Amino acid sequence: MVNFVCPLDRLPLDKDLKCPRNHQFKFDDGVYDFLGYEPKNNDVLEKVAPLYEGVWAPLGFLITGRSSYSKMLKDAAHYANAREFLDVGTGPGKIFDYVDCRECYGLDISRKFLKILKAKRPNVISVRGDAKALPFPDESFSGVSSIFVIHMLDEPSKALSEISRVLRRGGKCSIGVLTSRGSVANLLSKWWKLELKAESFYIGSLENLNLRIYGSSHMGPWTIFKCQKQ
Ligand SMILES: [Zn+2]
Repeated sequence: MVNFVCPLDRLPLDKDLKCPRNHQFKFDDGVYDFLGYEPKNNDVLEKVAPLYEGVWAPLGFLITGRSSYSKMLKDAAHYANAREFLDVGTGPGKIFDYVDCRECYGLDISRKFLKILKAKRPNVISVRGDAKALPFPDESFSGVSSIFVIHMLDEPSKALSEISRVLRRGGKCSIGVLTSRGSVANLLSKWWKLELKAESFYIGSLENLNLRIYGSSHMGPWTIFKCQKQ
């Protein structure tokens, strides 16, 4: 069992999810909740939540990446597959269909998506939290994935730094991002109101965080990096 830590100061939590500095978290309706606040909801994603893994993501990926969503996900999962596995920004947790994990953790900020995750994949521990402050100790996981989430954050390198921190040395991660390459990226960035980074930004960030890139695949403006922690 991976123990949780306080995402604010990384101190260990007691059995009631309270840290020595009195930061209190809760286990609510089957979800470990470390967020402590209500984020600005991404209205579009919240609305499509029930259709996300079956229709929205596969169709969107087919149009923008001209590739199969499930094939991409399977490939990313197989690379990082591990006994202790974390998916950051998991949504409904589709990637867990392709991971053979014993300790499976799915983290997201959306209650709605975590509710779907719990109903569909009860073996996955549902964690509500911020990708930029993960509630896990250093070197907790041998495999981490984060597919098409990090480019939506205001500080993507902070989330990458957290992924590197919770990965064990030799552990692998699959990181999928939307980069600024091409006209489809331009359209998507306007639609989502995002400031997209170039692929070189991610390459530099990953290498700086001791996540050596062993491969990358490109599907339209989408890139999956396959990395191993040095
Ligand atoms: Zn604390």
